[in-house]
Amino acid sequence: MQYESTRENRENCKKLERLIQRWGGQLIRLTGEQFYYIERTPGVSAAPFIADYAVHYEKRQIFCVTPIWYHLIHEMGHVFASPSMKASEYDFLGWEFLLARQLKGVDAWLRSNADYGVSPDADLGGLSKSEVAELLADRVEDGKRQGIIRRGRPVSIRVVQGRLQLTDPLGLLFQQDFSDDSLESGFPGRNLGLHNWRAAKEHFRCRLSHAQRRRNGSNRG
Ligand SMILES: [Zn+2]
Repeated sequence: MQYESTRENRENCKKLERLIQRWGGQLIRLTGEQFYYIERTPGVSAAPFIADYAVHYEKRQIFCVTPIWYHLIHEMGHVFASPSMKASEYDFLGWEFLLARQLKGVDAWLRSNADYGVSPDADLGGLSKSEVAELLADRVEDGKRQGIIRRGRPVSIRVVQGRLQLTDPLGLLFQQDFSDDSLESGFPGRNLGLHNWRAAKEHFRCRLSHAQRRRNGSNRG
Protein backbone atom coordinates (compact mmCIF):
# COMPACT_ATOMS: atom_id res chain seq x y z
CA MET A 1 0.00 0.00 0.00
CA GLN A 2 1.25 3.43 -0.84
CA TYR A 3 2.18 5.12 2.36
CA GLU A 4 3.52 8.53 3.18
CA SER A 5 5.81 7.37 5.93
CA THR A 6 7.90 10.38 6.81
CA ARG A 7 8.17 11.15 10.47
CA GLU A 8 6.68 14.61 9.90
CA ASN A 9 3.64 13.11 8.20
CA ARG A 10 3.11 10.47 10.86
CA GLU A 11 3.29 13.01 13.65
CA ASN A 12 1.06 15.53 11.94
CA CYS A 13 -1.52 12.88 11.05
CA LYS A 14 -1.61 11.76 14.68
CA LYS A 15 -2.15 15.30 15.90
CA LEU A 16 -4.90 15.83 13.37
CA GLU A 17 -6.54 12.52 14.20
CA ARG A 18 -6.69 13.50 17.88
CA LEU A 19 -8.20 16.82 16.90
CA ILE A 20 -10.77 15.08 14.70
CA GLN A 21 -11.71 12.88 17.64
CA ARG A 22 -11.95 15.78 20.05
CA TRP A 23 -14.26 17.49 17.61
CA GLY A 24 -16.51 14.44 17.62
CA GLY A 25 -15.30 12.94 14.37
CA GLN A 26 -13.43 9.89 13.13
CA LEU A 27 -10.50 9.32 10.82
CA ILE A 28 -10.93 5.99 9.06
CA ARG A 29 -8.19 4.44 7.02
CA LEU A 30 -9.27 2.03 4.31
CA THR A 31 -7.79 -0.24 1.72
CA GLY A 32 -8.34 0.73 -1.90
CA GLU A 33 -11.07 -1.86 -2.20
CA GLN A 34 -12.86 -0.67 0.90
CA PHE A 35 -12.63 2.88 -0.38
CA TYR A 36 -14.24 1.84 -3.66
CA TYR A 37 -17.34 0.81 -1.74
CA ILE A 38 -17.39 3.56 0.83
CA GLU A 39 -17.25 6.33 -1.74
CA ARG A 40 -20.40 4.86 -3.28
CA THR A 41 -22.22 4.79 0.04
CA PRO A 42 -25.13 7.20 0.54
CA GLY A 43 -24.05 10.28 2.46
CA VAL A 44 -20.39 9.96 1.52
CA SER A 45 -18.82 12.68 -0.59
CA ALA A 46 -15.61 11.79 -2.38
CA ALA A 47 -13.00 14.45 -2.94
CA PRO A 48 -12.99 15.09 -6.66
CA PHE A 49 -9.39 16.23 -6.97
CA ILE A 50 -7.60 14.28 -4.27
CA ALA A 51 -7.45 10.56 -4.92
CA ASP A 52 -8.90 8.27 -2.25
CA TYR A 53 -10.27 10.82 0.18
CA ALA A 54 -13.91 11.11 1.17
CA VAL A 55 -16.04 12.42 4.01
CA HIS A 56 -19.39 11.67 5.57
CA TYR A 57 -20.39 15.16 6.62
CA GLU A 58 -23.26 14.20 8.91
CA LYS A 59 -21.24 11.54 10.73
CA ARG A 60 -18.07 13.69 10.78
CA GLN A 61 -16.09 10.86 9.25
CA ILE A 62 -13.02 11.29 7.09
CA PHE A 63 -11.99 8.31 4.96
CA CYS A 64 -8.67 7.86 3.27
CA VAL A 65 -6.39 5.20 1.89
CA THR A 66 -3.12 7.02 2.50
CA PRO A 67 -3.25 9.62 5.25
CA ILE A 68 -1.34 12.74 4.31
CA TRP A 69 -1.63 15.58 6.74
CA TYR A 70 -2.25 18.45 4.34
CA HIS A 71 -5.03 16.50 2.62
CA LEU A 72 -6.55 15.71 6.02
CA ILE A 73 -6.57 19.42 6.88
CA HIS A 74 -8.61 20.11 3.76
CA GLU A 75 -11.14 17.36 4.42
CA MET A 76 -11.38 18.50 8.04
CA GLY A 77 -12.36 21.91 6.71
CA HIS A 78 -15.29 20.33 4.86
CA VAL A 79 -16.42 18.49 7.99
CA PHE A 80 -15.68 20.89 10.85
CA ALA A 81 -15.52 24.39 9.34
CA SER A 82 -18.46 24.23 6.93
CA PRO A 83 -22.13 24.81 7.75
CA SER A 84 -23.01 22.14 5.16
CA MET A 85 -21.31 19.79 2.71
CA LYS A 86 -22.30 22.07 -0.14
CA ALA A 87 -20.56 25.08 1.39
CA SER A 88 -17.71 26.58 -0.61
CA GLU A 89 -14.28 25.35 0.36
CA TYR A 90 -12.89 28.80 -0.41
CA ASP A 91 -14.61 29.92 2.81
CA PHE A 92 -12.29 27.75 4.90
CA LEU A 93 -8.99 28.36 3.11
CA GLY A 94 -7.86 30.68 5.91
CA TRP A 95 -8.93 28.07 8.47
CA GLU A 96 -6.77 25.48 6.65
CA PHE A 97 -3.84 27.88 6.57
CA LEU A 98 -3.98 28.48 10.33
CA LEU A 99 -4.14 24.77 11.05
CA ALA A 100 -1.14 24.19 8.75
CA ARG A 101 0.66 26.98 10.59
CA GLN A 102 -0.03 25.33 13.94
CA LEU A 103 1.64 22.22 12.55
CA LYS A 104 4.54 24.39 11.34
CA GLY A 105 3.86 23.17 7.84
CA VAL A 106 2.80 26.23 5.87
CA ASP A 107 5.38 25.77 3.10
CA ALA A 108 4.41 22.15 2.46
CA TRP A 109 0.73 23.04 2.69
CA LEU A 110 1.17 25.82 0.12
CA ARG A 111 3.06 23.48 -2.21
CA SER A 112 0.29 20.92 -1.94
CA ASN A 113 -2.22 23.62 -2.86
CA ALA A 114 -0.33 24.97 -5.86
CA ASP A 115 -3.23 24.12 -8.19
CA TYR A 116 -5.92 25.51 -5.89
CA GLY A 117 -7.96 27.85 -8.08
CA VAL A 118 -8.31 31.24 -6.42
CA SER A 119 -10.03 32.89 -9.37
CA PRO A 120 -11.22 31.75 -12.80
CA ASP A 121 -7.75 32.52 -14.15
CA ALA A 122 -5.34 31.98 -11.28
CA ASP A 123 -4.09 29.18 -9.09
CA LEU A 124 -2.50 29.68 -5.70
CA GLY A 125 0.86 28.46 -7.02
CA GLY A 126 0.90 31.15 -9.67
CA LEU A 127 0.71 34.04 -7.20
CA SER A 128 3.67 36.01 -5.89
CA LYS A 129 4.61 35.72 -2.22
CA SER A 130 2.99 39.04 -1.40
CA GLU A 131 -0.17 38.08 -3.31
CA VAL A 132 -0.35 34.80 -1.38
CA ALA A 133 0.09 36.67 1.90
CA GLU A 134 -2.63 39.14 0.94
CA LEU A 135 -5.01 36.39 -0.12
CA LEU A 136 -4.48 34.35 3.05
CA ALA A 137 -4.94 37.42 5.24
CA ASP A 138 -8.23 38.04 3.46
CA ARG A 139 -9.30 34.41 3.92
CA VAL A 140 -8.43 34.54 7.64
CA GLU A 141 -10.46 37.73 8.11
CA ASP A 142 -13.36 36.09 6.30
CA GLY A 143 -13.01 33.04 8.54
CA LYS A 144 -13.24 35.28 11.61
CA ARG A 145 -16.43 36.82 10.26
CA GLN A 146 -17.88 33.34 9.75
CA GLY A 147 -16.92 32.27 13.27
CA ILE A 148 -14.69 29.39 12.15
CA ILE A 149 -11.60 31.25 13.40
CA ARG A 150 -11.63 32.50 16.98
CA ARG A 151 -8.79 34.17 18.80
CA GLY A 152 -6.60 33.45 15.81
CA ARG A 153 -7.27 29.72 15.92
CA PRO A 154 -9.28 27.39 13.70
CA VAL A 155 -12.26 25.95 15.57
CA SER A 156 -15.00 23.44 14.84
CA ILE A 157 -18.50 24.79 14.25
CA ARG A 158 -20.15 21.38 14.35
CA VAL A 159 -22.57 20.66 17.15
CA VAL A 160 -21.39 17.78 19.32
CA GLN A 161 -23.79 16.34 21.86
CA GLY A 162 -26.03 19.36 21.74
CA ARG A 163 -23.37 22.00 22.17
CA LEU A 164 -20.92 23.80 19.98
CA GLN A 165 -17.31 22.80 20.38
CA LEU A 166 -15.65 26.14 20.09
CA THR A 167 -12.62 25.50 22.20
CA ASP A 168 -9.48 24.73 20.36
CA PRO A 169 -7.73 21.74 21.89
CA LEU A 170 -4.59 22.16 19.81
CA GLY A 171 -2.77 24.23 22.37
CA LEU A 172 -3.08 21.39 24.85
CA LEU A 173 -2.72 18.75 22.19
CA PHE A 174 0.58 20.03 20.94
CA GLN A 175 2.13 19.90 24.36
CA GLN A 176 1.63 16.18 24.48
CA ASP A 177 4.43 13.85 23.61
CA PHE A 178 3.49 11.60 20.74
CA SER A 179 5.20 8.30 20.31
CA ASP A 180 6.41 7.40 16.89
CA ASP A 181 4.73 4.08 16.39
CA SER A 182 2.75 3.12 13.33
CA LEU A 183 -0.09 5.37 12.25
CA GLU A 184 -2.15 2.31 11.59
CA SER A 185 -2.44 1.34 15.22
CA GLY A 186 -4.05 4.67 15.96
CA PHE A 187 -6.69 4.52 13.28
CA PRO A 188 -10.22 3.52 14.16
CA GLY A 189 -12.42 1.78 11.67
CA ARG A 190 -10.22 -1.16 10.88
CA ASN A 191 -12.67 -3.40 12.65
CA LEU A 192 -15.83 -1.89 11.24
CA GLY A 193 -18.25 -4.19 9.50
CA LEU A 194 -16.72 -3.53 6.14
CA HIS A 195 -18.46 -6.51 4.59
CA ASN A 196 -21.70 -4.58 4.92
CA TRP A 197 -20.48 -1.95 2.56
CA ARG A 198 -20.66 -4.40 -0.30
CA ALA A 199 -24.39 -4.43 0.25
CA ALA A 200 -24.68 -0.72 -0.35
CA LYS A 201 -27.00 -0.63 -3.31
CA GLU A 202 -27.37 3.04 -3.86
CA HIS A 203 -24.60 4.77 -5.63
CA PHE A 204 -24.33 8.30 -4.58
CA ARG A 205 -21.75 10.94 -5.23
CA CYS A 206 -21.90 14.41 -3.87
CA ARG A 207 -19.48 16.08 -6.16
CA LEU A 208 -19.63 19.59 -7.40
CA SER A 209 -18.74 19.82 -11.04
CA HIS A 210 -15.37 21.24 -11.89
CA ALA A 211 -17.00 24.22 -13.58
CA GLN A 212 -19.08 24.96 -10.51
CA ARG A 213 -16.02 24.80 -8.32
CA ARG A 214 -14.19 27.21 -10.56
CA ARG A 215 -17.09 29.62 -10.22
CA ASN A 216 -16.94 29.20 -6.47
CA GLY A 217 -13.29 30.12 -6.62
CA SER A 218 -11.80 26.73 -6.04
CA ASN A 219 -10.94 23.72 -8.10
CA ARG A 220 -9.90 20.92 -5.91
CA GLY A 221 -11.14 18.15 -3.66
ZN1 LIG B 1 -12.67 19.95 -1.08
